[in-house]
Amino acid sequence: MKYISILGSTGSIGKQTVDVVSKNDDMKVVALSANSNVELMAKQVELLKPEVVCMYDKEAALKLSKMIDTSVTDVLSGMDGLISVATLSSADIVVAAVVGMIGIRPVVEAIKAGKDIAFANKETLVTAGHIIMPMIRRYRVLLLPVDSEHSAIFQCLNGENHSGIDKILLTASGGPFRNYTKEQLKSVTVEDALKHPNWNMGHKITIDSSTMVNKGLEIMEAKWLFDVDYDDIQVVVQPQSVIHSMVQFKDTCVMAQLGSPDMRLAIQYALTYPERRTLDSEKLDFSRLTDIHFELPNREVFPALDMAVSAGKSGGSMPTVFNAANEEAVSLFLNKKIEYVDIVKIIDKCMKSHIIIENPSLDEILEVESDVREMIRRDYI
Ligand code: NDP
Ligand code: MG
Repeated sequence: MKYISILGSTGSIGKQTVDVVSKNDDMKVVALSANSNVELMAKQVELLKPEVVCMYDKEAALKLSKMIDTSVTDVLSGMDGLISVATLSSADIVVAAVVGMIGIRPVVEAIKAGKDIAFANKETLVTAGHIIMPMIRRYRVLLLPVDSEHSAIFQCLNGENHSGIDKILLTASGGPFRNYTKEQLKSVTVEDALKHPNWNMGHKITIDSSTMVNKGLEIMEAKWLFDVDYDDIQVVVQPQSVIHSMVQFKDTCVMAQLGSPDMRLAIQYALTYPERRTLDSEKLDFSRLTDIHFELPNREVFPALDMAVSAGKSGGSMPTVFNAANEEAVSLFLNKKIEYVDIVKIIDKCMKSHIIIENPSLDEILEVESDVREMIRRDYI
């Protein structure tokens, strides 16, 4: 039996994890967490009967404890609650599917507690990769990528030596505004930006995909996961999202991982690795798939890509600034407080005014995050 804790069980990745678990008899969920969605959490608790559940929001936790059988499931709240879910002694693996850098402390504590991590929460690795990667080695746990591109690269690297890698080819769908001009981006609404052509995801990552901030975060995520230089990561636009990413080797061979756009493949693979199991997903049909199309990203219309590379190369606290500014700006955009094009402008402004802290500690990362958020709120609310 594999015992699983899920951070962010009510989200897009969280719900798909619950679906995968419910179809595998040898998997059992022992802990769940979310922020405030008590209705869905009550249903998940009813279905999975975990030992512990955490609602980060205290009022939501109170509400949940009146809706479920608390003699079966303990209800916790706040950061301590999230850490309890991440470190529960009966769990073998933690699915990190919470959105944003709120995941840093729970993930760090889970690693210290010896848990393997099925990792979707890219914001945590982008901001604290220099702390997390050495810990993964020190505590001898597995960090199994769930982000589809990184799962693809991980699968392409199965059985390969790191020294054989020439470069990582990170694919991108290009998002809903792939063919837009800078001028056209100015009139994008929240509703337009929430329509992703291929993937059905949480709101924050859907906006990030449309600005290509998501691909920028993924470049930094790939750097940490696969220990490659920024100059050896190339973004390739593949609009149908059929190729989930590729690796080019020194002998010129290119390995690619293909499949339908279904996150459950990456989630299940992380939970069953190194085993492959049946999945009730749509199979690629090569009698209907007539062409696979490639483009280069338009870096002028989508400057977030180069800003991410610059943040990553600068290192230290700069990736935290890139990420925190984006988290705050996306939240303001979703609440219709700023324009779409302001998102990238805000990130740029925050990066330009930041004095880098080299090798920041967890506390310093969280302090930079809070300073950046405060600065943006001061200017825009
Ligand atoms: P969602 O917005 O759909 O879900 C986020 C989850 O995190 C929810 O369960 C939410 O709870 C919980 N959450 C939010 N804030 C807090 C908080 N302060 N404390 C505790 N829990 C909180 O996001 P996604 O599932 O789309 O994305 C999750 C992560 O996975 C992100 O890092 C994203 O980049 C990554 N990812 C997602 C992909 C996808 O297909 N969705 C693909 C690749 C990566 P509540 O419902 O109560 O708000
Ligand atoms: Mg991805």
